[in-house]
Amino acid sequence: MGRYAQIIIDIALEKLDRPFTYMIPQELSDTLEEGMEVTIPFGKGNTLRKGYVVAITDSASLPEDKLKYIDSVMDKSVSIEGRTLALAAWMKKNYGGTLITAMKTVLPVKKKVKEQNYRNILRLADPERLKAEIGALNPLRFASRIRLYNALLSADELPEEMVKDKLNVSASVLKTAEKDGLIKVETLRRYRAPVAGSGRYSSKTDLNEEQQAVVEEIMRAREAGDLRPALLHGVTGSGKTEVYLELIERMIAEGRQAIVLIPEISLTFQTLMRFYARFGERVSVMHSKLSDGERYDQYERAKNGELDIIIGPRSALFTPFERLGIIIIDEEHEGSYKSEKMPKYHAREVAAYLAERENALLILGSATPSLESYHRTQEDEYRLFCLRSRFGNAVLPKVYIEDMREELKSGNKSFLSRRLSELLTERIVKGEQSMLFINRRGVAGFISCRSCGYVVNCPHCSVSLTEHLDGFLHCHYCGHKEEKPKICPECGSKYIGSFRAGTEKMEKELEKLYPSAKILRMDADTTKNKEDYDRILSQFADGEADILIGTQMIVKGHDFPNVTLVGALAADMSLNLSDYHSAERTFQLLAQAAGRAGRAEKPGEVVIQTYQPEHFALQLAAKHDYESFYEQEIGYRELADFPPICHMMTLQFYSKDEKAGPERARYIAEEIKKMPGDKPEVIGPAEALIGRLKDVYRTGLYLRHKDMDVLQRAKDLAEETERILCMRAGAADVMLQFDPDPVNSF
Ligand code: ADP
Ligand code: ZN
Ligand code: ZN
Repeated sequence: MGRYAQIIIDIALEKLDRPFTYMIPQELSDTLEEGMEVTIPFGKGNTLRKGYVVAITDSASLPEDKLKYIDSVMDKSVSIEGRTLALAAWMKKNYGGTLITAMKTVLPVKKKVKEQNYRNILRLADPERLKAEIGALNPLRFASRIRLYNALLSADELPEEMVKDKLNVSASVLKTAEKDGLIKVETLRRYRAPVAGSGRYSSKTDLNEEQQAVVEEIMRAREAGDLRPALLHGVTGSGKTEVYLELIERMIAEGRQAIVLIPEISLTFQTLMRFYARFGERVSVMHSKLSDGERYDQYERAKNGELDIIIGPRSALFTPFERLGIIIIDEEHEGSYKSEKMPKYHAREVAAYLAERENALLILGSATPSLESYHRTQEDEYRLFCLRSRFGNAVLPKVYIEDMREELKSGNKSFLSRRLSELLTERIVKGEQSMLFINRRGVAGFISCRSCGYVVNCPHCSVSLTEHLDGFLHCHYCGHKEEKPKICPECGSKYIGSFRAGTEKMEKELEKLYPSAKILRMDADTTKNKEDYDRILSQFADGEADILIGTQMIVKGHDFPNVTLVGALAADMSLNLSDYHSAERTFQLLAQAAGRAGRAEKPGEVVIQTYQPEHFALQLAAKHDYESFYEQEIGYRELADFPPICHMMTLQFYSKDEKAGPERARYIAEEIKKMPGDKPEVIGPAEALIGRLKDVYRTGLYLRHKDMDVLQRAKDLAEETERILCMRAGAADVMLQFDPDPVNSF
């Protein structure tokens, strides 16, 4: 038990960035907990004020005669506010930055919800009549009406907003349905929830043997006191979601609550409907379209016990449930779980902290787990559960790897391999759909040879060099710099350069090749608004196009029953990213894409086009073989000493002045090298991958050590050094941010 308490005086005061240290009186030493509300003497007059304990420590930065004692504990039970503040303090400690920034991350902006009208669609017709209507409609002409009726078969009431946005049903369709007496549009005065319902829910599905075994084993372990996080590894379509639903139901039966994280991109209508159909209006959704007021309203409803389940992106973790029982992170390998703003936290880490504190279950699910999580199962920190077969015996698609060097040799200069263009033609003739995507992650400018596939790598690091604006090739891990070759050092070909391909160019060429085909394109340009994204997806789902082309965003989390062909163009681009994650990212993307094509009735095919057909990430993705991929990749990480074998932390320096950032970085690097005790390895400083952004220069300092604690001490030292430097007159204006175990390159 520590002897000192860190106390926050008032949540509202923006200036009070730091907690104050108080001594813990003897009589409280057994009872005081993080998050408790206490009274403390404050200021010269020692007026008693209310505060929250955010941490209990063994040491204090001031001598004891300068410290005061806590007066009393106001409430022995830890309030949810107190726990939220303790979370903020934990985030500040782990991820750096100010406490205020951390508090703003975990607490919603307090705003009153405007009294607004919301409309719900009620089903009037009985299910038999709806089914008859569906049967009588031509699916090609009345797709959106059919979508609406199907949705109303699984729930008798739907929010109009969701029907319009997610189901893409127009006002005129609603009007017709209302005129025919099938539905009623009801206006509600108070905002209830983005997902509202009236109470008649679908009965639960019976789990199959494999799913049942996972649920029972997780519950049994919990009863035996084993609350280690569980990684659920199951191919797409194996029924992970069914397992989540069952676990949630059991926790709710115990009077506890659930947080379900899903990447925003897969927050689709189908996913929501499955939760909604099972749990009704005790479910609510967080997403980026909510206003501050709505967000605050959700927060209050959760706090008041009006909700059991919240679904949303990483920020849904901060929902203040009184009795949190389970946290689920679906698609746990997704990069969007890492915050790119201070505090740069990873949802997985925060969830693990919360789950431990609240005695809750933590379930991570993926068809392609992150190396970090899988590694932890091998170290027995997490438990591993597998779902090995697809539900209903659906088969995995056949995958072809096409060597684009061979295509060039035989005179095919097109961006489509012969196999892919044959299969495309076949689909168009048969009236089946295809998806083609370009892996855009690699467009950062690595240099490769189109004849032999040679990639220019750093002689000191196992990463590729990238072309910078100064015309040289740089390594942003060690700072190595060299001239760009004019001919390939490997084979002498002059076809060497940076590879850039765009979706727009691809669309134009496809239009020329297949004049009769209808093509939809989805990329950053065509999805400026969130509605565009839903619109394109539902057009494609309705069969309005033969081919959907786009960036990797099209392969994430969607199910199109009529898609039987998926083509990955330039599949190896992300292999050459100057980032140790690149093989893992490529494997995940291709394995996910390969999981998209085909269903039980119509088997699918996948074509992967590449210049490095022998690369293990491609080979193993084509075989849907995660375990072998893990074995190989972890071997490389061990050799090169990269996470998850060790931990890394990037110190990111931002400066308006070109020299100030690197100078500060060098100074702090020297301080860290002089650090007492265990020291991290210090790499750099080096110009960041994007060396200048919006006129701000970016410099990276990379730290590495097997203990995160050591990196955190280095971070604290850097922050302290920075604080002292900033107080000096004439100190250069440099901003410092920390990124522990970075997910994206800086
Ligand atoms: P995942 O989340 O692993 O991709 P899903 O839970 O979405 O898999 O399951 C894939 C499909 O199989 C869904 O349509 C789901 O309804 C169905 N399914 C899975 N398990 C069962 C079950 N036990 N009973 C009935 N249908 C199931
Ligand atoms: Zn070459
Ligand atoms: Zn290097």
